[in-house]
Amino acid sequence: MEAWLGVGVAVMDIGYREAPSNIEMLVNLFRSNLPLVRTLVSKIRSLTLEVGKRYGGDSRFRIMDFCGTHEWTITHFGIRSLMPPAIELVAGPGCPVCVTPSYFIEEVVKLALDGVTVYTYGDVYRLRAIRSVKGAYSLSDARALGASVKIVTTILDAIRDARGGRGNAVFVGIGFETVAPGYAQAIDRELIPDNLRFLSLVKLTPPAMLYSIGVLRERSGEPPVAGIIAPGHVSTVIGAKAWAPVSENYGIPVVVSGFEPIDVLISIAEIMRQLAKGEAKTVIEYTRAVTWHGDLKAQKLIAKIFEAVDDAWRGIGFISKSGLRLRDSYSRYDAFREYGIRELTPENWKYDLPPGCRCGEVIIGRAKPTQCPLFMRSCTPSTPIGPCMVSIEGTCSIWARLGAGGLADEIARELGLS
Ligand code: SF4
Repeated sequence: MEAWLGVGVAVMDIGYREAPSNIEMLVNLFRSNLPLVRTLVSKIRSLTLEVGKRYGGDSRFRIMDFCGTHEWTITHFGIRSLMPPAIELVAGPGCPVCVTPSYFIEEVVKLALDGVTVYTYGDVYRLRAIRSVKGAYSLSDARALGASVKIVTTILDAIRDARGGRGNAVFVGIGFETVAPGYAQAIDRELIPDNLRFLSLVKLTPPAMLYSIGVLRERSGEPPVAGIIAPGHVSTVIGAKAWAPVSENYGIPVVVSGFEPIDVLISIAEIMRQLAKGEAKTVIEYTRAVTWHGDLKAQKLIAKIFEAVDDAWRGIGFISKSGLRLRDSYSRYDAFREYGIRELTPENWKYDLPPGCRCGEVIIGRAKPTQCPLFMRSCTPSTPIGPCMVSIEGTCSIWARLGAGGLADEIARELGLS
């Protein structure tokens, strides 16, 4: 394993300086490293020319990020506007809320309307199903109809609140590997009170990445994925080694990246460096948080409490071993069992995006939000129609809120980089 990035740029301390306001702080973060930004951008441009010579002058290189936060950084800081035309930055399936099947939203809406208190994260609260349950399409609708739906930030909030309550309750456990250790620990330590059940809808990211790469490879006429900016937060748990099969089996460079704009630029430069040298390795740029093997203790705990199952991804369908469900020995906590929620199967899963919504393609990098006919017409952050417009990690939501340019382009212009 290599932790060193060969792009010849030292990772500097990019600590925050005086920050009168949030927006100024974000702008300063880029500006305070202007020499480094210039070096990286010119490095990326010269490496792209080198790679072009290797693969043919008109080659295009699609680099996929795999985390809503990376997409946020790329969009907010106008990193696309700094890229040479041959590099296309696309977003991958980095939003767990976006890929939670409509069916499960309908099931929790049903529970809420039947008198069960539902604890959920703020973005799940607004997520719309495609079918209504007694007039409610979302947990937000259910609450408007009088159901008890409570927004929490962690499972511990739900545990604390449920302990004080008398009725039955369910916690909707959505997320990627990042949140799984917290869920597993609450269950392992028997913190869950008798009246609370856990609905495990956790998704696993490496199988989805392999799926997306595979789909884009199969489509002729589209550039395949040439490099991956792998998720930093998830990798703190599963380790960079989880992405090695992508490099080994597909010959694609993978860089586990941090979330500052400088991190992302370094990661892109490293991908282009590898392509120029004909290499395909998995390396870590985010060395301040990620190791090759990850958090072994957390991995052990997850494996103790959960088992990997074939799982449905909204608008996509089934991906092998891409979800986590409670093991039988913890079925006393399981909302599936308690409330008779049946599992989706490839036979009973139905395409579950609203008409016109291209979220299934946006999620795997086949379409941009702006290619959806509903984007910023009928589907907006305040009136989301598809799931990618709901969460702050959804690509459509990020592009809508940040304008996929706007401030970012302005910053790039001021820096003389666009
Ligand atoms: Fe779906 Fe809305 Fe995105 Fe279109 S803009 S793909 S409807 S989430």
